[in-house]
Amino acid sequence: MPTHIVVVGAGVSGLTSALLLSRSKSNIITVIAKDMPGDYNAEYASPWAGANVLPMASEKNSLFERRTFPELQRLAREVPEAGIHFQGTFLLQKHFSRRKNMIFDSQSPTDVCIYRRQSEIDKIKAGTFRSDGLFLPNPWYQSMVDNFRELNIGELPKGAVSGCTFTSVQINPMIYLPWLIGQCKSNGVVIKRGVIDHIMEAAALSHSGAKADIIVNSTGLRSCKLGGVMDQNVIPARGQVVVLRNEINHMMSISGTDDGNSELCYMMTRADGGGTIVGGSYEPGNWNPEPDPNQSVRIMSRIVELVPELSKGNGVRGLDIARHAVGFRPFRHGGVRIEKEKIDGVWVVHHYGHGGWGYQASYGTAERVVELVNEIRGHHPKL
Ligand code: FAD
Repeated sequence: MPTHIVVVGAGVSGLTSALLLSRSKSNIITVIAKDMPGDYNAEYASPWAGANVLPMASEKNSLFERRTFPELQRLAREVPEAGIHFQGTFLLQKHFSRRKNMIFDSQSPTDVCIYRRQSEIDKIKAGTFRSDGLFLPNPWYQSMVDNFRELNIGELPKGAVSGCTFTSVQINPMIYLPWLIGQCKSNGVVIKRGVIDHIMEAAALSHSGAKADIIVNSTGLRSCKLGGVMDQNVIPARGQVVVLRNEINHMMSISGTDDGNSELCYMMTRADGGGTIVGGSYEPGNWNPEPDPNQSVRIMSRIVELVPELSKGNGVRGLDIARHAVGFRPFRHGGVRIEKEKIDGVWVVHHYGHGGWGYQASYGTAERVVELVNEIRGHHPKL
């Protein structure tokens, strides 16, 4: 018996769910969404992500990231058209000695460097730090990634007291989201534009004409405003970034800045000519979709101070700006919501609230959606 499923949302969460669900021939899947890959507005988070894998969860909550990383590694290794690349082995000492005589080799393989400042280490100890997974000394993810090692003192930039390096992946959303659509379509998924005001409207939107048996709610931030859901725990965590044409093949993130708690400093060069993303900010509850020019100046000043090679030693003036951008991470107090609920006689599988880690946990959370759909099918007399 076929199961008619309508997935609401064409961000990384909705599309990954549709892809994994479409591997079962008995699922007849329609994706409907207000925003599609190629659209840009701050509430549609997926295009704005870097996106890289820098594990953020605590060890207790690391399952989704652990489940996702091997698949992203496989895509980086075997599927070039997905727009994912590795950030390889980077020797920071070489990097800094080069800095003095200004010799740069953008072809040399590079890596992720995570730097920890004393002030955030103190906050981690006090339990008051927003993202304690990534910057933890002796982190759980050293067993997940390749080439992990702690940095030596001589390899740290000014302001950092410790750090680590490892190999991770970087995803170019401009390539990866359309690739996901293509994978879904080749499995028979039908993708349609559609805006709903109430989650139950989706029940009537299957391309098959049948009433949906199951709705997957992957509406991200809009789950706070969608009728039948109205989840007040969901808020935007505003992120401002600068997209540069400068490339450096190196990812870095430092645990904090001197410009306030809501400002971040990180950098990654996107795969396949996607430019370099420099961030940023993390501003819970801020709905301002416009880039703040002062914030952009701070973002760029911090990065050229930490990584002068990015602009070949020419400071902010050496940066070639493609655009300033703002996206809202769909943060949820209490964590991501992945659970089933029967509304007006139709099963809804909620799948939203991924905050700043929607890509790096995408296969893990979508696998949970598949498990819930299978549970419903097992228990539903008609299916
Ligand atoms: P969204 O991408 O927001 O998609 C929601 C979908 O639902 C859209 O298609 C929308 O149109 C649709 N929708 C909503 N309401 C309705 C409605 N009523 N009717 C029809 N359709 C509707 N994550 C990482 O893993 N790594 C990173 O490096 C990273 N960096 C980030 C940097 C920034 C600046 C930002 C903003 C985010 C970053 N993220 C990162 C987080 C990541 O982007 C999000 O977690 C992820 O994109 C969430 O995807 P989603 O599909 O749940 O939501």
